[in-house]
Amino acid sequence: MIQHSLLCTSCRREYPFGEIRPRCQQCGEPLELQKVSHATINVADSLTQTMLERYSAFFPFASIDPLLSLGEGFTPLSESPRLSSDLGVRRLLFKNETLNPTWSFKDRGTIAGIQHAAAIGCSRIGTVSTGNMAVSVAAYGARAGMETFVLVSDSIPEEKISPIAIHQPHLIRVNGDYGNLYFESVRIGTDLGIYFLNSDVPLRVEGSKTIAFEICEQLQLQVPDYVIVPTSAGGNLRGIIKGFEEFVLCGLIPRMPTIVCAQASGCAPIFNAWSTGKDSIERVQAPHTIAHAIENPFPPSGNQALRKIREHDGLCIAVSDDAILQAQRTMAREGIFGQPAAAVPLAALRQLRKEGTVTEDATVVCVVTGCGLKYTAALREQPISTTHCTLEQLPSVLASPRA
Ligand SMILES: *Cc1c(COP(=O)(O)O)cnc(C)c1O
Ligand SMILES: [Zn+2]
Repeated sequence: MIQHSLLCTSCRREYPFGEIRPRCQQCGEPLELQKVSHATINVADSLTQTMLERYSAFFPFASIDPLLSLGEGFTPLSESPRLSSDLGVRRLLFKNETLNPTWSFKDRGTIAGIQHAAAIGCSRIGTVSTGNMAVSVAAYGARAGMETFVLVSDSIPEEKISPIAIHQPHLIRVNGDYGNLYFESVRIGTDLGIYFLNSDVPLRVEGSKTIAFEICEQLQLQVPDYVIVPTSAGGNLRGIIKGFEEFVLCGLIPRMPTIVCAQASGCAPIFNAWSTGKDSIERVQAPHTIAHAIENPFPPSGNQALRKIREHDGLCIAVSDDAILQAQRTMAREGIFGQPAAAVPLAALRQLRKEGTVTEDATVVCVVTGCGLKYTAALREQPISTTHCTLEQLPSVLASPRA
């Protein structure tokens, strides 16, 4: 394998790449791979090449096993002319991550992590999650034939168990502090040789870079003005920023977009620190939002997300559950069905337009991170409208439906 190393995102201490090590032993902050500054896109037929093959020069792999892939990435960037005129922006585009193999962007980081596990000869993987990441790791672990451990909290609702269990991982309900489970799993995993692909481990962040790469390619290497990312642990936001940074360094795009970290008001630790000028995040007490996928009260990459947003003059914003549900309905009217967390960017854009932060000449990309069918319980909060009639009444109902 080519010599790569992992750097601490805070104290810059260096660690070897060929081992399982997500965080700095010195300061506890996340590690990351050095930025790629000389690379080109491996342009080939996207019907036959995989996402990692296309961007292989931006990844630290000597070779890529296409059989590990389930067809992640290469998701549409759908333009919404109607909504852009409603909101009063020049262009509005949805990066529709619901079209990934397990219906969320998590598959991008999972494939990168599994490829790394295979490269360092590790055949046991795991994760701590009750949602999209658990499903993704269970599916890709099954595909790779790796022994897979999914740790969930003991209080996980039954409806969330079966989409994970169907892939037949070791599914372990842990009774204890769920926040602590992230750090404990990483520690135990390093000792036992189980590669925990948790939310913001270095390779997961690398996987998320491809969202930025694809957005650039889909816009013919034009840079959008804003990219809005619903943020919890911070891994996806970091990856998207790193992707744009690397395309700038490689001379593929001229500048960075403005990155917006969007959170739910009921759980907004990064927004809270950003808006009060603090250097580090504080744990949110009693978090509560309908957007469960972004309900992490103490995000492991919160401090690094904060540093990167400040470095690039990005923005943070928090939106209410009502605004989120409204955005979910609005997007669905464009044919895009995101889960509540995935509707947060559109709710954020509406607020940023109202405040005048985003101006009417802007091109905006909302990252729709995961599919609405993943979380049907949230639909109970949505008004459902139907019409009833007899067969005899049908002609008149069809001739003049209710508005
Ligand atoms: C995981 C997830 C997020 C948050 O990503 P982080 O990397 O944890 O910040 C947002 N939306 C959906 C649908 C997710 O599954
Ligand atoms: Zn450090």
